[in-house]
Amino acid sequence: MIIKPKVRGFVCVTAHPTGCAAHVQEQIDYVKAKGPLLHGPRNVLVVGSSTGYGLGSRIAAAYGSKAKTLGVFFERPAEEGRLATAGWYNTIAFTNAARADGLYAENINGDAFSDNIKQQALAIIARDMGPIDLVVYSLASPRRTHPRTGVVHKSTLQPIGASYTNKTVDTDKGVVSEVTIPPADETSVADTIAVMGGEDWEMWMQALADANLLAPGATTMAYSYIGPSQTWAVYRDGAIGRAKLDLERAARALNTKLAAHGGGRAFISVNKALVTQASSAIPVVPLYIAILYKVMKEAGLHEGCIEQMQRLFATQLYNGSTPTFDSDGRVRVDDWEMRDDVQAKVAEIWPQVTTENLPTLTDIAGYRTEFLKLFGFGLAGVDYDADVDPNIQLP
Ligand code: NAD
Repeated sequence: MIIKPKVRGFVCVTAHPTGCAAHVQEQIDYVKAKGPLLHGPRNVLVVGSSTGYGLGSRIAAAYGSKAKTLGVFFERPAEEGRLATAGWYNTIAFTNAARADGLYAENINGDAFSDNIKQQALAIIARDMGPIDLVVYSLASPRRTHPRTGVVHKSTLQPIGASYTNKTVDTDKGVVSEVTIPPADETSVADTIAVMGGEDWEMWMQALADANLLAPGATTMAYSYIGPSQTWAVYRDGAIGRAKLDLERAARALNTKLAAHGGGRAFISVNKALVTQASSAIPVVPLYIAILYKVMKEAGLHEGCIEQMQRLFATQLYNGSTPTFDSDGRVRVDDWEMRDDVQAKVAEIWPQVTTENLPTLTDIAGYRTEFLKLFGFGLAGVDYDADVDPNIQLP
């Protein structure tokens, strides 16, 4: 069939298998061109490996240091009359490429929050890989069924305490408007912490430790975001920010345990704001990203997921010494985004943006290009008028 993008608000409901493969190959080529990591990981588990920062991490580990990778993700294969999700096509492309290059790559498609998927992962690790020396926890999920209670928790992207009004953009229509987001109640905040906080990360690490499948000196990291004051009400100081604080709590608890296990470590890496399926759903943030891209591209500082992850691995994790931590024990690869000169320019542009000047004051065009690439559209060298088989399976 011939597959074209169908954008509905902040999602694209179609994905292109050949385009997703080209997007994955671009990321592989980037990591290869950067050369090998000095002291890279050998056995890597990535939870949330099919898109965004998790996929970038997997590629940085596999192609930066020939690591064996096990990827866990929740994606939909093609079904009667429905295309698969982009993460499904990405994972097929990554796995085919890795295996063709002689790299071990195995996958589990299912709910990472469940005990069953954790058990499946342990079985594969024990059978094929041996003790894991890097666990990347990169889940972004709207809900979690708690494995002990069976309760379904839903996360929210709301402020806390008072409603919040700011500018936002409909990235599809290019319309700038004001949005008012009502505050989350206490239950919603607790639910958001249950979904996006650190408990499940700790459960993964405990399961690995109990099965003796964590290598002495192992590293684990999860990803967070802080960002500028324009987004604090909805992000850092909102319900999701509370969940990220809980992720930091988990990092400290895990770090204590891992330090006693051969000098291992656990930490949070604060990453840059980027167009991903998760970030495009957050109100206000896409407008910030469109302005940020304009400023960072003009300053020659722009990075995508793979550039961020390759830099994190090469200059922080595997540079032969310990990472540089901020005063709260976090690694910061949002350092270029948060530079004073970058943020001053963003703050200058922010109040001026209207629907009319959106194309000139912001990089909304670059935002849209990146967004479509997430679903395999707009990749150079891909013939989008060619017939493709959407019904492909994981190797
Ligand atoms: P994403 O939507 O691209 O990726 C999410 C991944 O989680 C996918 O692989 C998906 O399949 C997987 N997933 C979701 N629910 C699952 C489940 N129940 N079981 C198994 N897998 C599941 O998101 P992303 O933007 O790459 O976010 C990853 C992490 O990075 C998050 O912690 C996010 O907060 C953080 N982060 C994102 C940004 C940004 O701007 N995008 C910035 C800094 C930090």
